[in-house]
Amino acid sequence: MARRRTSPTDVVKAMVYDRDGGACVRCGALENLTVHHRVNRGMGGAREPWINQAHNLLTACTVCNGWFEDNPRE
Ligand SMILES: [Zn+2]
Repeated sequence: MARRRTSPTDVVKAMVYDRDGGACVRCGALENLTVHHRVNRGMGGAREPWINQAHNLLTACTVCNGWFEDNPRE
């Protein structure tokens, strides 16, 4: 069985950063940015093609990425 990529492609990340203005969507930070999955890969969606598409992703700094993981309903 072929091993699937589990991360968004660089193209998708660039789309997300651009959509979100290159800043953290929660605090507006411009540094230490990462891509947060609204629906996490570990929640049964890892094999779904939409999991790494832009609408499932948010730009978040490393601090807020942790906050989103702790507060998935916010
Ligand atoms: Zn932030």
